[in-house]
Amino acid sequence: MASVLRDSYGRIADDLRISVTDRCNFRCIYCMPAEGLKWLARGDILRFEEIVRLARIFVRRYGVRTIRLTGGEPLVRVHIEELVGMINELDPSLDITMTTNGVLLRDKAKLLAEAGLKRVNISLDTLHIDRFQEIARRDAFARTMEGIQAAEDAGLRPIKLNMVVMKGKNDDEVVDFAGLARRRGYEVRFIEFMPLDGEEIWSNDMVVPSRRILEQIEDQFPLVPVPPKRPGPSSDYQFADGAPGGVGFISSVSQAFCSTCNRIRLTAEGGLRTCLFSLSETPLRDLMRGGASDDHLCRVIEKAVWLKEEGHLINQEGFVRPSKSMSQIGG
Ligand code: SAM
Ligand code: SF4
Repeated sequence: MASVLRDSYGRIADDLRISVTDRCNFRCIYCMPAEGLKWLARGDILRFEEIVRLARIFVRRYGVRTIRLTGGEPLVRVHIEELVGMINELDPSLDITMTTNGVLLRDKAKLLAEAGLKRVNISLDTLHIDRFQEIARRDAFARTMEGIQAAEDAGLRPIKLNMVVMKGKNDDEVVDFAGLARRRGYEVRFIEFMPLDGEEIWSNDMVVPSRRILEQIEDQFPLVPVPPKRPGPSSDYQFADGAPGGVGFISSVSQAFCSTCNRIRLTAEGGLRTCLFSLSETPLRDLMRGGASDDHLCRVIEKAVWLKEEGHLINQEGFVRPSKSMSQIGG
């Protein structure tokens, strides 16, 4: 019988993000330094069986219904579709999703859909080839666009696009992205730039508050809010004229959604993190490798979730950047 994972502020954690690798084939300026980061040793990364054991606990004991695979770039993990299939076997009605840069989806989308992946979020920060090279530091615009098409063809719908909006880099494209959403029926998520980049270039001046983006889009395409089905980080809108697709805003910096946060994260090396901005994590890998029982793991997990932080303090006195950056945590 499943119970729930409740924290001391009454929030229920039912959205699990699993990072399957800290490695990546891109070097996005808002995430990783050009030279990359020091990768984890392969033996330190959770094996598929270990990930599935933990997923089973979260699903069967705590009623988690959404599992998102992320990284680093999840598609660089060899045979990732096998992991999707193993998680799907736990319960084929699970909402298994993935956040990916999309560049390998051309070859993987069909396999992933067949294995049980339901949908994808694909990161795309610009619609210009030269800018893509500047932001991702890779000449991969065409392949990424092919990957988006492959995901659509494989039935991984709705297609959600994640755009990290940075002042002076790509904020002049937000209306174009809304236009793309309308033409293709995509859901575009505009994400505020967070101080989790590996190069520490973040400054509050580079953040474009969601309400500014909303205003720009509304000048062209009036929007109507979509009432949330359940608490979550994104505020979503449809187009008032009935065009397909939609837009959403993740306002982590300007309007933190911590009071309704239902997310927990497992890092590639098996650390349980209760907040993106946690300053410590609860290591589960060595417990598992040391022979801990499921009941023991559950006690550790429940305690960690109970102690989930009230919220982050970005732009407030006392904010401390976590030592890990986004790709090392699993965004
Ligand atoms: N590599 C995959 C990708 O890029 O989609 C998955 C991992 S990536 C760390 C997950 C998400 O975090 C992506 O949508 C990315 O754009 C976002 N992200 C990375 N660094 C960020 C930052 N500093 N602020 C806001 N979002 C960020
Ligand atoms: Fe890689 Fe994703 Fe980070 Fe870009 S955002 S460097 S694709 S992990």
